[in-house]
Amino acid sequence: MAKTGRQRPVKICPVCQRPFSWRRKWKDSWDQVKYCSERCRRSKRCRPSC
Ligand SMILES: [Zn+2]
Repeated sequence: MAKTGRQRPVKICPVCQRPFSWRRKWKDSWDQVKYCSERCRRSKRCRPSC
């Protein structure tokens, strides 16, 4: 069978606390990606208290 042991990197979104995996659109900026989605990225400064 083909090589299947290679996993895509996974990070935990600090906003929703969910793991998300590498996506092609992040191929050039994966190191800078911290949030799973644009929605989480925008809410990073908005805590429940606000
Ligand atoms: Zn998220």
